[in-house]
This record gives sequence, C-alpha cells and structure tokens, in this order.
Amino acid sequence: MSPDTARPGPRPEPRPETPTGRMAAHEVRQRLEHERDTRLTQLRAVAEAGWAADDHVMVVQKEAIQRVLGEIEAAFARLQDGSYGVCPDCAGPIPAERLEILPYARCCVACGRRAA
Ligand SMILES: [Zn+2]
Repeated sequence: MSPDTARPGPRPEPRPETPTGRMAAHEVRQRLEHERDTRLTQLRAVAEAGWAADDHVMVVQKEAIQRVLGEIEAAFARLQDGSYGVCPDCAGPIPAERLEILPYARCCVACGRRAA
C-alpha cells in the first residue's frame, strides 16, 4: 500500500442516487402537495363560480383540473413504489428539468409528444 497523498481533499463523489435525480423525494412530495392544493382550490373556485357561468365551460374546466389531480395522485403512487422519474413508455429516465417544471409528468418529453 503506497500512500496516496498526491490528491488532497475528498474526491468528488457522485451524489447518492435518488429516484428523481436532482430533487430529493421529500422535495418532490412537497411540490406535488402544493400542486394538489392549488388544483383543489381551483376546483372549488370553479364549482362556486359554476352556478353563474356557462355550464359547458365549467365542465371543461373541471375535467381539466380533475385530470391533473389524477396525474398528481398517480405521481404520488409512483413516488411510493419507486417508479417515479422513469418513463413507463420507453423505460428511460424523465429529465430532472422536466420534473422541475412538471413534477407530475408521467412520461418523458418524446413519449409525451407521441401520445399527444
Ligand atoms: Zn419515454
């Protein structure tokens, strides 16, 4: 064993792997909770305004919000079972940048575009 003193200081070690890459699981959870609260507030606002508003518009808005809420719930489930951050369509990682913008993104950009 020769002493290895040529490189002082700690070697740059890769950060421990988290399911989300850049964000820790608890950060993701917080963001998802925030998103959910926001949508629930929107849903309440739509329901309250709905009595006076055009029914069709209200239904469309409500469905859009409920769809996002479903995606948020699904993201919670993926976080739970460890599949969060992995695209179910191509099994590739979902880029952290995408998850930062859309923490409940179901799949990667390419697959999302293909599905749309
Ligand atoms: Zn994909």
